[in-house]
Amino acid sequence: MQIPADRLRNLAQAIFERGGSDEGEAAQVAEKLIEANLFGHDSHGVGMVPAYINGIQSGELNPGNQASIEHDKGSFLLVDGNAGYGQVVAKTAMELAIARARELGVAVVGLKNSYHIGRVGAWGEMCAAAGFISIHYVNVFSSSPVVAPFGGSDGRFTTNPYCTALPARGGAAPIVLDMATSLVAMGKVRVAHNKGEEVLPGTLIDSQGNPTNDPGVMYADPKGALRTMGLHKGYGLAVICEALAGAFTGAGVFGPEHLSPGRIINNMLSVLIDPGAFGSREAFDDEIEKFTAWVKASPPAPGVDEVMVPGEPERKTMAERLAAGVPMDDTTFEEILAAGEAVGLDRAEAMRIVGN
Ligand code: NAD
Repeated sequence: MQIPADRLRNLAQAIFERGGSDEGEAAQVAEKLIEANLFGHDSHGVGMVPAYINGIQSGELNPGNQASIEHDKGSFLLVDGNAGYGQVVAKTAMELAIARARELGVAVVGLKNSYHIGRVGAWGEMCAAAGFISIHYVNVFSSSPVVAPFGGSDGRFTTNPYCTALPARGGAAPIVLDMATSLVAMGKVRVAHNKGEEVLPGTLIDSQGNPTNDPGVMYADPKGALRTMGLHKGYGLAVICEALAGAFTGAGVFGPEHLSPGRIINNMLSVLIDPGAFGSREAFDDEIEKFTAWVKASPPAPGVDEVMVPGEPERKTMAERLAAGVPMDDTTFEEILAAGEAVGLDRAEAMRIVGN
């Protein structure tokens, strides 16, 4: 199936409204999810609707809850997301961070106890659009530790994403490195499982610690685990994400006490920096443009169309999907319909919204 983005967004919005959000909140959450689909990250798109409804029903996600400031001193701000929608409370945290960075040239902002903040790149892009370099370290409390430490054989933490976004001259498209520290995000394993596809070699181990390409090991009992990207280096970055997003903010690091059904709590440390602080914004833009042109001039390797910089693949996918619609596999669509039914949106109405 290819479904036009606006129809899928309307379906997600209708489900969130029945899940207890007012129209504005439901629209805000749906918009961010569909943006992830358009950027090619289906793992963080409307396929998350069932998880969010599950979060509401298990009391882990509180629609309507807003962010509150817990600590405010100079360049340091600590924001509590109060287990509200991440799309709402992270936006507030970033607005506060941007205002503080405008005032002081730098802001160090902790966001704790937010429900799933989705694509971390969205928050980097927001800071870049405001003219700031931003670095984001994130940890996750979830119902299951899905990522194994390097050399280990079972999950001990989750996919701890990391993002750095660089603003570009005149509001042009930013460079955005936005990634899980696992080889792939868990949502991508879910998507592969739903499609009946294998994952890339090196992504997973089974419950005995043996390498496997079968996403089914993540749904077995005992379950397997994801591997970190870049072997020990990705593992090291995941540890740093726990330390900065969890320990430094006071939110806490992942451990058995945080395991709870329906829980997808993100904590994030964001550091915003004025790119002109040591010279001028123009000089920074010149250097970034120079380096981008230099690396992109590398002759593409066999089978590669073009050398890109981080953030570029997502923008290409968005252009394609705005034209062709968002691909949707049957299992994911069925799960979304079931989530709608769980909050009182009947199938006929859901199908009318998506235009089928
Ligand atoms: P990915 O592997 O698809 O991309 C990682 C980065 O590599 C991106 O910045 C992308 O632009 C860049 N990239 C990809 N191909 C490239 C190429 N050919 N040339 C140059 N750059 C390239 O992303 P991922 O690790 O699967 O993560 C997917 C999403 O999941 C991210 O948005 C991340 O924030 C999100 N995530 C969120 C959570 C959470 O708890 N909220 C947890 C894990 C992941």
